[in-house]
Amino acid sequence: MSARPIYLDNAATTCPDPRVVEAMLPWLRDRFGNASSLHEAGRAAHAALGEARRQVAELLNTLPDEVLFTASGTESDNLALFGIFGPAGERGGHLAISAFEHAAVAEPARRLEERGVGVTRVPVGADGLVDPDDLARAIRPDTRLVSIMTASNIAGTLQPIEELAAVARSRGVPFHTDAVQATGKVPLDLQRVPIDLLSLSAHKFHGPPGVGALVVRRGTGLVPLLHGGGQEQGLRPATENVAGIVGLGVAADIARREMPDDAARIVGLRDRLLEGLEATLPGTRLVGHRWRRLPGHLPLIFDGQEGEAIRLLLDLDAEGIFLSSGSACSSARAGQPSRALLAMGYDPIRARGLVRISLGRFNTSEEIDRLLEIIPARVRNLRPTVTRPNHHMERSAR
Ligand code: PLP
Repeated sequence: MSARPIYLDNAATTCPDPRVVEAMLPWLRDRFGNASSLHEAGRAAHAALGEARRQVAELLNTLPDEVLFTASGTESDNLALFGIFGPAGERGGHLAISAFEHAAVAEPARRLEERGVGVTRVPVGADGLVDPDDLARAIRPDTRLVSIMTASNIAGTLQPIEELAAVARSRGVPFHTDAVQATGKVPLDLQRVPIDLLSLSAHKFHGPPGVGALVVRRGTGLVPLLHGGGQEQGLRPATENVAGIVGLGVAADIARREMPDDAARIVGLRDRLLEGLEATLPGTRLVGHRWRRLPGHLPLIFDGQEGEAIRLLLDLDAEGIFLSSGSACSSARAGQPSRALLAMGYDPIRARGLVRISLGRFNTSEEIDRLLEIIPARVRNLRPTVTRPNHHMERSAR
């Protein structure tokens, strides 16, 4: 491998911004107090948590005391679902989620279902969007929660979240959104959009891994999953990861200030890459809606090469180009059809062919030039394993 690697897997995780790392370092060295301690070191840690809470709240235009720190996006999603239904699911009722939620929502939903909670999986169109009318039809008198992700980790599509949340609100049902992929990349305004619970994760927007938050709108009844001390209003008791939370706060602050410029630049890179690939490789298919999508997210299928997606990833890996075949959380399923694509109506052969490119803050125009040389050559090198007509969408897009 000669040239510098090109990292194109920002949907899996991002490089921590150097400013985030700098801000964290003192809290890993000598400023190590427990935020619950009354002495000066403890008070300093407590104040740092307060500042991070304010920074996250400002990014989302919400109140600092509505931000609960957790250890991951997965934990935030679990706290939202089990927190509403109760850890033992003792209260029954009904949950509506989209048909292509991340496993961090889909799996808790499955567990709740095993315990007798009714679960409706609202369909997703071939464009990767949920129709608010379908959600309205799914809500029942006993629905206790709606959970629909803001942006898909696979298709990268941005849901009509304002309309979906409004449907839930109009029926008096709390609305949770897994905004792990969207936070820090697209504007989210909780004063405007009636979201009651929102999950985010620092490592998806140039913060550290192992730190997340659940935003809980005042008045949303939630029970804790963990029991212990009284941290995070008793809803997430444990000694806080001060350095990580400081990193989350700084990542949120940078995202708030730099989002418009970052997004415009990344969209420019993404579109140049997409248009360049479409021009040189006529069988290039974008998965999901063409413009209702995250700035950096480019999930592709190359016609006729569906069975070779993993080989393509390995070939590119050998060239120092890092991308993904779908959710990093299910790399054990590499080569299997993508669950999200199946939900969007793709047939199982095409659903095996996903190649997910996800750009971030640190990708450059020179990298796009290099990709436009290497990727078409590598795709042409693959031996077509499937010959089928260009039915890239088995269901019509809405
Ligand atoms: N939700 C979505 C949409 C994700 O993409 C991810 C991570 O891939 C998660 C939840 C889980 O977040 P974390 O890795 O912080 O547990």
